[in-house]
Amino acid sequence: MSQHVTDAVVLNSIDFGESDKILTFYTLAFGKIKGIAKGAKRSKKRFGINLEPFSLVRLHFFEKKEDSLVRVSACDLINAFQGIRDDLFKIAHGSYMIEVVEKMAPERERHPELFRLLTDFLGILEERGMNEDLLRVFEIRLLDDLGFRPHLSDCVTCHRPFARSIDIRFSPEKGGVVCRGCARALLQTMPVSMGTIKTLEMALKIDPLKVPRLVFNRDARDESKNILRGFIRFHIGKELKSLEFIEKIKDIK
Ligand SMILES: [Zn+2]
Repeated sequence: MSQHVTDAVVLNSIDFGESDKILTFYTLAFGKIKGIAKGAKRSKKRFGINLEPFSLVRLHFFEKKEDSLVRVSACDLINAFQGIRDDLFKIAHGSYMIEVVEKMAPERERHPELFRLLTDFLGILEERGMNEDLLRVFEIRLLDDLGFRPHLSDCVTCHRPFARSIDIRFSPEKGGVVCRGCARALLQTMPVSMGTIKTLEMALKIDPLKVPRLVFNRDARDESKNILRGFIRFHIGKELKSLEFIEKIKDIK
């Protein structure tokens, strides 16, 4: 039996049986892990908001070789991101961010840069809210951190460089841009212009705190949404529930 301590963001929390909770965390030191908190449902005093989605905590857990779930022994709150919980729009966007991480990140694969991306963006969401450009930056950085950086420099299949936007398509299956010739052999491709490629390359480099300075033009906004969502959908195999929630509340404002 080994004991561990690491910082973690709660991605998901569900009641289990009479008194327990099953949790999914994204941790700094271990990547995504699933655990059980015995008695957590009854003992609100001991765990409280610490085991609710969005919370950044210092997680203490131990594991037994024969169990697939780790045992949560303590969970100290670092930041509840209360400003997200108080606002329906922030809840919707925060739910999307944690759902993408939960669905995309493999269990027990350590990506400290993804942990930092998630905590940085929860902070940005709490303080300033979210917009489409920022979401694209989050999505492309998440893909990069998990080893799925989209190939944007030339055709991912034949490596022909591009001269005109009309020659370029994006292929979720190939994980990058393809020329028109190579696109013909692929099932699903999407239009993408040279301007959008440049914006995405910038989104990979920019400091997220300076993102308001990166303003996507309308084409780049539509195309990058289309290709990044398509790329994520390709990897997950379905549409995310939290996206429907964002669409539903869009018009309430
Ligand atoms: Zn090609």
